[in-house]
Amino acid sequence: MCKPRKPLPVPDLDTQEYWEGCKRHELLLQRCKQCGRYRFPPSPMCHRCMSMSYEWTKVSGRGKLYSWIVVEYPTHDAFRGDAPYAVAMVEPVEEPGVRLPGGLVDYQGVELRIDMPVEVVFDDVSEGITLPRWRPVGCRGEE
Ligand SMILES: [Zn+2]
Repeated sequence: MCKPRKPLPVPDLDTQEYWEGCKRHELLLQRCKQCGRYRFPPSPMCHRCMSMSYEWTKVSGRGKLYSWIVVEYPTHDAFRGDAPYAVAMVEPVEEPGVRLPGGLVDYQGVELRIDMPVEVVFDDVSEGITLPRWRPVGCRGEE
């Protein structure tokens, strides 16, 4: 029997630029040209000022850990061999209030805590898709 495949994002009109940036190992966020605020997930309109005008902007890839879960019992068969693994919501330094989802990596042995600094790393999971993931920074070698 075939091993189940992990579901992958399907870029669409709104998210294409985001995924293209990930492929280049660049984290891009939409930035409203009227009010200057970043937003995520991608959408055609700013939910703050209703402007339809925006630009894709490369951001630093640094952020704070807003929340996370450790998955012990995946509900999708394709992830069974990966458990336990952590999935995080990260607040980018450029825009408090925006939350970016992604798997946490290199966190074993690190005491995870809210607001700890993290940085993006890119995982080329297939020819067409690169996923952003997050790893703690500045938490090692402190003993
Ligand atoms: Zn706006």
